[in-house]
Amino acid sequence: MPFIKKKNVEFTFASRSPAAPPVTVHCHCPRQAGVALAFAMAATRATDSFTAPARPLILVIPYPAPGHMIPLLDLAGLLASRGLRVTVVATPATALLLAPLVDAHHDGAVQALVLPFPSHPALPAGVESAKDSPPTLFASLIVAFAELIGPLGSWARERSDTPDRVVAILADHSCGWAQPLAAELGVPGIVFSPSGVYGSAVLHSLFRRAPRREDESDEESQISFPDLPGSPAYPWRQLSLLYRTYKEGDEISEAVRRNFLWNLEGSAFVSNTFRRLEERYLRAPLADLGLRRVHAVGPVAPPDATGDRGGETAVSGVDLCAWLDRFPDDGSVLYISFGSMAVLQPPHAAALASALERTGLAFVWAAGKTAPIPEGFEERVVAAGGRGKVIRGWAPQVAALRHRAVGWFVTHCGWNSVLEAAAAGVAMLTWPMTADQFVNARLLVDELGAAVPVSWGGLKAAPAADEVARVLHTAIGGKHDVVARAREIAAEAAAAVREGGDSWRELEELVRELASESITKTGLDY
Ligand code: UDP
Repeated sequence: MPFIKKKNVEFTFASRSPAAPPVTVHCHCPRQAGVALAFAMAATRATDSFTAPARPLILVIPYPAPGHMIPLLDLAGLLASRGLRVTVVATPATALLLAPLVDAHHDGAVQALVLPFPSHPALPAGVESAKDSPPTLFASLIVAFAELIGPLGSWARERSDTPDRVVAILADHSCGWAQPLAAELGVPGIVFSPSGVYGSAVLHSLFRRAPRREDESDEESQISFPDLPGSPAYPWRQLSLLYRTYKEGDEISEAVRRNFLWNLEGSAFVSNTFRRLEERYLRAPLADLGLRRVHAVGPVAPPDATGDRGGETAVSGVDLCAWLDRFPDDGSVLYISFGSMAVLQPPHAAALASALERTGLAFVWAAGKTAPIPEGFEERVVAAGGRGKVIRGWAPQVAALRHRAVGWFVTHCGWNSVLEAAAAGVAMLTWPMTADQFVNARLLVDELGAAVPVSWGGLKAAPAADEVARVLHTAIGGKHDVVARAREIAAEAAAAVREGGDSWRELEELVRELASESITKTGLDY
């Protein structure tokens, strides 16, 4: 059993096993302390059976947003099951998400390092994660989270002459500050991209080149990306809000820009994508990614991903699948989600709700806690015979997408949603809002032929309900090319992660390089 010591609001958990390092949790408030306590007990259970101190230790730094944490925790699990040790950084608000990963590795290969979330004047008190927060808070969150560089540097330096020394850092691309930290420690720094290669290159290109509009009021002004294959261009309004709100000389803006520029000095990128999906962007090194090698290792979601992936769900995966079992026709149900952040605006929600009522389609709408669903909609859906289900809170998305009854997905095109649908063979109806979502939507619609667009209007312009109803009606129920294409892509995704597949080989090579502490930096030899 672990012993637990409470010092004011700091908890230190230590294992009786001499080989296992203690887990220290600093907490701002009793609520966080409770969460951290529950988690740390789970983490400490794992450290009790710690058996392999000599295995190379990777420090993994996820960014506190579900769309960033979920895939990086999946990747950390893959590294741990291939013989590496990983210490994963969390704060009290995100610590519980680590518990299943720590528990799954009984040999202690996964450790948690729970640190207090750094307070910052630019961030409203109590905000420690992007979950259910508007995208406008993203920049301040990046800057506040960067303050962890101090405590993490001390933590790593304390171990530098021990068998527990960090041999590499693997950090989310919103934690670019981890790259100078890795350089200072003299170890490789690997950048984890929670986006695809194309989406990541576009984002880094913006901060690298800082393109501006000739007319500052023209939202349609075309911004081109001359260093990317095909030299794509996007109207200003379709670019990431993080870049559109960048103001030269502004403290937060410059810190965010520096964050992404640091990634280009890292040792390599690793991305939750697979070669057949983004072949065009993986053929040669990209200047927009610092000409760094990109390891395409996805899809990283485990085949047995449980219902509560990413947090406690409002409805269990088992219950949702039982509800879906009632629909005899394969692919007849529409799944709807706009991701984990608060992006859906009232006019968009109204258009979608009205379209669903008009078409009478069977659907699951994973609305989260904040979606502005029109009053009375949920009651009317129930009264109309229960062909629709609204999930208020966290939904078991992967379980739903893998159910045979779900054939279509209205998605904001967050990259994880894209990969989860691609792996499940679900055809997509794209409705991008911000971030890399327009890039992902264009990849799906224009390049891969795996999706049908619902709207290109983004956050500002909502489509008419009639138009949404027409798109849904035409897609679902008819014979559509994208359904066959979605199945092909799912087969390619499965082949990529199978032993000997493209992603499998990339992952093996990454593990080999991490273990030997020699990272191939440039992409020139791939
Ligand atoms: N997700 C989930 N349940 C929800 C909402 C989201 O499981 O109710 C998961 C989803 O499966 C995906 C992630 O959260 O893994 C969202 O990431 P994505 O990149 O799609 O969008 P973001 O939230 O980053 O905009």
